Amino acid sequence: MKRIFSGIQPTGEIHLGNYVGAIRNWVYLQDEYDCVFSVVDYHAITIEYPVEEMAKRTLETGLILLACGLSPEKSKIFVQSHVPEHTELAWIFNTVTPIGEVERMTQFKDKAKQHRANINMGLMGYPVLQSADILLYKAGYVPVGEDQVQHIELSREVARKFNARFGDVFPEPQEILSMAPRILGVDGQAKMSKSLGNFIGVLEEEAGIWEKLRTAVTDVNRVHRTDPGDPNICNIYTIHRAFSDNSMLIEIDKGCTSAGIGCIDCKKMLFENLKKELTPIREKARELAANTDYVKDVLHQGAGACRKIADVTMEEVRRVLGLYRT
Ligand code: SF4
Repeated sequence: MKRIFSGIQPTGEIHLGNYVGAIRNWVYLQDEYDCVFSVVDYHAITIEYPVEEMAKRTLETGLILLACGLSPEKSKIFVQSHVPEHTELAWIFNTVTPIGEVERMTQFKDKAKQHRANINMGLMGYPVLQSADILLYKAGYVPVGEDQVQHIELSREVARKFNARFGDVFPEPQEILSMAPRILGVDGQAKMSKSLGNFIGVLEEEAGIWEKLRTAVTDVNRVHRTDPGDPNICNIYTIHRAFSDNSMLIEIDKGCTSAGIGCIDCKKMLFENLKKELTPIREKARELAANTDYVKDVLHQGAGACRKIADVTMEEVRRVLGLYRT
């Protein structure tokens, strides 16, 4: 089976953007690929974070992955820092990665702007650690969104540089581009994100979801119920595209552009579809929260299985590097 690696940061609350852009896709992929999914806590420490929350958020993220449908029978699910070989390989990759390559990464430039007071080496080396995450397992495929394609290109470059100098050890990973629509935040201004506070959480209670939908910005040109709107510039429609079927999308398109339906009608339709998909996830999460020993055990077993693979890769890497072994 072809192997996939992908990771998610332990940011605490997982929102619809994370779910649609990554996790829902992972659930499908685990039937076709040998999947390695990680809660990437070492990536999360490259910016300021609440230290006292980290362990809790990491466990919660593992719990949500399971509630959303990842299965330990099909996938290896683990916490990045439980397999220290990730950082060992990242260090080795630092020695073959040209600085110019990481400096030109769009995400680094963006993060450097956002975190001016703490532009650290980890922030710059983020895609090198990402390369190590993938190549430690010799994964050939990485499911990503558009914004991560540049990092996968870099991981190919890292693999090429390493192989050219030390021999043919690593595959050149390919991206599996997510076809999921980009979900905008309820403010209609930017991508849904926890830091911008414009998100709907996957585990949020129904009343909270409705309140956020009810007050969410729509097509700003639609001031009155009788004004026709344009779904293509409406953030509510971006969420509909991820949760509603084609016939409903056509109905909304027609209703919106002719002012046949109002925004509240449209939001109610979306709310019903969100409930259908999120209620079983919320129920499963509640069940898991009452038995966190199970979640801990899944992460423990996952780390054990990953360490075995990592061990083999690192022995090969240390050998080709010519390091002294006893
Ligand atoms: S009817 Fe729906 S798609 Fe049209 S502007 Fe209102 S919320 Fe957006």
